Amino acid sequence: MTPEQVPADLDELIFIATTDIAARTKGRAMRRADFDERSSLGWVPANLGIGSLGHIVTDIPYGSTGDLRLKPDLTSLARVDGIPGRPPLNIVFADLVNTDGTPWESCPRTFLRDAVEQLRSEFGLTVRSSFEHEFVDVSATGDHHPFSLQAFRRAEPIGSQLMTVLHRAGLEPENWLPEYGRHQYEITVAPTDPLNAADRAILVRDIVYDIFEAHDREASFAPVVSPGETGNGVHVHFGLDDLAGDTLVFDPSRPGRLSELAGSFAAGIVRHGPAMAALMAPLATSYLRLAPHNWSSACSFLGLQNREALLRICPTNELDGRDPRRQLHFEFRGGDIGANPWILLGMILRAGMQGLREQLTTPEIVVGELDLDGRHAGLAKLPRNLEEALDVMKRDAVVTGWFSPAFLATYEAIKRDEFASVQARSLTEQCEVYTRVY
Ligand code: GLU
Ligand code: MG
Repeated sequence: MTPEQVPADLDELIFIATTDIAARTKGRAMRRADFDERSSLGWVPANLGIGSLGHIVTDIPYGSTGDLRLKPDLTSLARVDGIPGRPPLNIVFADLVNTDGTPWESCPRTFLRDAVEQLRSEFGLTVRSSFEHEFVDVSATGDHHPFSLQAFRRAEPIGSQLMTVLHRAGLEPENWLPEYGRHQYEITVAPTDPLNAADRAILVRDIVYDIFEAHDREASFAPVVSPGETGNGVHVHFGLDDLAGDTLVFDPSRPGRLSELAGSFAAGIVRHGPAMAALMAPLATSYLRLAPHNWSSACSFLGLQNREALLRICPTNELDGRDPRRQLHFEFRGGDIGANPWILLGMILRAGMQGLREQLTTPEIVVGELDLDGRHAGLAKLPRNLEEALDVMKRDAVVTGWFSPAFLATYEAIKRDEFASVQARSLTEQCEVYTRVY
């Protein structure tokens, strides 16, 4: 939305936001009255070195010198109103630029912006995408029956408020549901262009936190809130369109109804899935979730409507003669809350483009239940822990080639530090640490 479309009381504040390696929303605020299209605020490169545990790690390329600007992208401006006891929040997402206005080499939002531009200029493609979020009401006690009306009602008035706040902020909420896990809920929003979709993902989380806190409750999106519990995923849905907005995914004559182009795109993602793990599932406890039989993913494969697939071909709704053509799309199921949404979607698009560039053939489409001990034993496994994931990432020159060397060095330093510090604790304590952060 443009500033004119977002009328606000000029005494309100506007938060100029970025989201970092730890996927935390950060930034600075100014008076809305002082904000215009030329506004930008200062930022520090070393802030990128703050990991999930909240401190700047040592041995990163960014030190005590250097300056950046948070340059707002006015199309991302939103006004979040209706959270009990809190003033309206004006928020705009910023690209990180050098002080001369050139893009900063390690800006996570520019990482997605560039991927979208590459898709357009190199392949004539656009993407529609949306992020689905699962989380747990960790302050809830007592029974939770999966998907039940009672669980839905227990979360009131939070659920109703959440849907209203999201709607009024322009985020187009679709579904709010009690999920399978204990006190677990899910919120989905409508698809839109990739930058907007990732911006929405960031806002959804912060709005959920805000509303729960306003009710003296606590929500956590941590991949697993305690060992053995159902995981919280961040599922990324996407389809591929031509520049006129017509779908390029659907071809009913081929397996899975996937066009040759969509098959190549999927092949790139499946091939680079294991190397992307360190960035899509970047917490020590992410690997408690990425295990077999969790309805998340332990192997990198393409599955027809299979919830254990890293990349799932979603079903279409053909009730009352609805047309499946525009509906057919993918769901990437490997991500969790630790992944920066701009980087997560940017990687999915870049891996897909690599498949197109090399004209890879459609990977095996797993149909029916997964048989890991039998006919699917040969599927590529995802790493089993964060340390292994970092090693696998470093061996994949395509994946590392997407990032600036300084970004990669910072990322690795943060994640090795985090792994070393949480690894010494019990699994229960590890889950507790991340449940507090996320
Ligand atoms: N909770 C599962 C996950 O960790 C997903 C369940 C579902 O398919 O919605 O990703
Ligand atoms: Mg779900």
